[in-house]
Amino acid sequence: MTAQVDAAKPSPAGPTEVDWVAAVAAVRQLPAEGRVLLICHVNPDGDALGSMLGFGLGLRRLGVHEVQATFPGPPEVPEPLGGLPGLDLLVPAAEAHPEPDLVVCFDAASDSRLGELADRLTGPGTALVLDHHASNTGFGDVNLVDPEAAATSVVAEQLLERLGVPLDPNIAECLYVALSTDTGSFRFDATTPAVHEMAARLLATGISPGDISRRVFDSRPFGAVRLFGEVLGRARLEPEAAAGQGLVWTYATLEDLDRHDQRPYVLEALIDPVRCTAEADVSCVVKQTGPDVWAVSLRSKGATDVSRVAVALGGGGHRLAAGFTGRGTVDEVVEQIRAELAVAAPEGGIDPQG
Ligand code: AMP
Ligand code: MN
Ligand code: MN
Repeated sequence: MTAQVDAAKPSPAGPTEVDWVAAVAAVRQLPAEGRVLLICHVNPDGDALGSMLGFGLGLRRLGVHEVQATFPGPPEVPEPLGGLPGLDLLVPAAEAHPEPDLVVCFDAASDSRLGELADRLTGPGTALVLDHHASNTGFGDVNLVDPEAAATSVVAEQLLERLGVPLDPNIAECLYVALSTDTGSFRFDATTPAVHEMAARLLATGISPGDISRRVFDSRPFGAVRLFGEVLGRARLEPEAAAGQGLVWTYATLEDLDRHDQRPYVLEALIDPVRCTAEADVSCVVKQTGPDVWAVSLRSKGATDVSRVAVALGGGGHRLAAGFTGRGTVDEVVEQIRAELAVAAPEGGIDPQG
């Protein structure tokens, strides 16, 4: 590995000027015919894919020809993201360059989120990390990690700007999908003036927010609508959990998906109607991915740090949105969450000082 700066845990203040200069140099000093591999986290969401593909299209505009984009696991793009520009950059993980000159990772807090592709970071090329998780381990040679950024695409846009790549509608659409998914369509607290200014720059390229939002957020198969009805019908409210802040949860099995002839990605949106529950600060969806294996999504309205719960159970994420892989029966997984919420609650509980 050609370490350009010492790998260290990124500063909470975000990338330094030294980091930015090193990142720009890593791209500019690519050899002619240099190979670039872009990797985003497993089970990619809008920010992971959008920031990766937007940056990849930007590299193409810079004249870098050998750009591949990939992610671990099955090479399936969730349907709502199937219209993203730049999907032609994608290759299955098994076909990714074994020894790229530059590896760029997107939206992954640690190399464990890169699955079987984590070994690409230990090759001779430079590893550049673009991310916005406060828990990022600083696993790159150069780390552009900004915990204040609403999405990884904020970091990607800044790097493209420093590289002198102008926004075009395709790059803008990718970055817009990333920004709007991670801010919950500009509803979460991370939606700062700077986020709206970035959205304005992206929209100024002529992209259509109505079409994009319909595709990404407001379109799902009828079978998924019926599946949601069933799964929401079995949601449980536990007002006394999370030290009285309340927990609402539900689950979906592989058999549920089968019965409604649906693919797992449809369940990604299920947390949204669940977290509407006014009586609970914490919401949770437990989604089966294999025998006794579950992908768990956790959300908080503000009183609870769910990343503490997720980290304690082997996962990660942000204070208000986190996840982990649960093992055992649904009841066992939920019991683990209840127990961790009881531990996590005191710090996150209502502050008597106001
Ligand atoms: P999700 O509920 O899948 O939308 O994930 C919410 C947040 O939690 C994301 O920002 C992810 O970074 C993080 N996350 C989800 N699952 C895991 C996991 N198994 N390990 C680490 N972080 C996770
Ligand atoms: Mn993500
Ligand atoms: Mn993100």
